[in-house]
Amino acid sequence: MKYYSTKNKGLSKSFREAVIEGLPSDNGLFMPEFIPELPEDYFDNIKEKTIQEIAFDILQPFVKEDLDDLQLKKIVEKTFSFELPIKKIEGDNYALELFHGPSYAFKDVGATFLALCLEEFYKEAEEKCTILVATSGDTGGAVASAFSKVKNIEVVILYPSGKVSDLQEKQLTTFDKNVKALEVEGDFDDCQQLVKKAFLDSDLRKQLNISSANSINVARFLPQMVYYFAPFIKFGKEPLTIAVPSGNYGNLTAGLIAQKMGLPVRQFVAAANSNDVVPRFLIDGNYDPKPTVQTISNAMDVGNPSNFQRMIDLFDEKEIREKIKGFAFSDEATLEAMKTVYREHEYLLDPHGAVGYLALKEYLNASDGISILLETAHPCKFMDVVSKIISDDIYPAGAKELMQKEKKSVKMKVDYKQFKEFLVG
Ligand SMILES: *Cc1c(COP(=O)(O)O)cnc(C)c1O
Repeated sequence: MKYYSTKNKGLSKSFREAVIEGLPSDNGLFMPEFIPELPEDYFDNIKEKTIQEIAFDILQPFVKEDLDDLQLKKIVEKTFSFELPIKKIEGDNYALELFHGPSYAFKDVGATFLALCLEEFYKEAEEKCTILVATSGDTGGAVASAFSKVKNIEVVILYPSGKVSDLQEKQLTTFDKNVKALEVEGDFDDCQQLVKKAFLDSDLRKQLNISSANSINVARFLPQMVYYFAPFIKFGKEPLTIAVPSGNYGNLTAGLIAQKMGLPVRQFVAAANSNDVVPRFLIDGNYDPKPTVQTISNAMDVGNPSNFQRMIDLFDEKEIREKIKGFAFSDEATLEAMKTVYREHEYLLDPHGAVGYLALKEYLNASDGISILLETAHPCKFMDVVSKIISDDIYPAGAKELMQKEKKSVKMKVDYKQFKEFLVG
């Protein structure tokens, strides 16, 4: 498989090159040159497969020139080592819980897969690699945890000061060796812009091997296809409606690729908070990004989602409108949904899952069959909100330990010069 840039179809990079470079130098995003199709009978015995087996089948065509079967097998076994429970909320409506990994969010899948790929690629290399990552909340924790176990790779995490939860902050500021946190006095888009600027800085790139761990890296993005198969292990090949709480749209775009491979998705429902650029696009075909708005589902606070470039690369406008229904909800509605679902169904949604739940409700008709909501984070990551609903202690043991640790971060203005100095130090 070769990878091109959304800005230049003529570019042809290997998986390894695309992963290491993170972002093409023309400011586009890497895309696989084609989407392989699964054999027609693939879903006949899907109930007998394990998620690791599926992960291997799905990802192998995308990586096989650079990772042999044994390497890939080891990587997917480690990546998909935590449970993916499917819990009933009400009737035919289920939550697929993607938050049982080390940082309690679905991003553990992509971050772990990326870290393990880079570990393989840098195993014999002399020089070191520095990973730059901007986070609106959950990416940082997943990346920090995934890379804290990997050798020869430095990680620098940029996060918006005061805009992430306490547990999220601890998840990215409590590692001491190869993982460093920069607390930026700005919002997520500022962090993302600083990272993008670094990638376009040829002088910096001469001095440092930099790579990205944002959802824009293909090694983070592609493995996210895999858990979309989990509901089919439970329910068989019946088409399902799937709601995806979305911010930078990496998760949903991975789902769209899984569908293109043959996953029988009846309908994708994109769920947004007040950062509603994609739902608005689905209404009038106008892509009109706005500055980021801060919400209680902060991992989705993205005003100008990077992966939109991938969506329009995969499909034309009409296809996008057919494949995705999009809805946006206010914080008030989100909180209300969390309360109602907890009261009536004893299921505790986190604010992101709650936005997904609302979107499903808005879209679904009674006859639509089984629907799945991707529960993207553990509610304990958002206690400032969740404590309005429940007073019980819901922290897993690992999270409690983490909360006791001391925060270590470097404060920084939105200033590229300062950022660069920190990097080349
Ligand atoms: C990152 C994140 C999202 C948004 O995912 P995208 O791939 O950026 O659309 C949703 N929910 C949670 C909890 C997240 O951490």
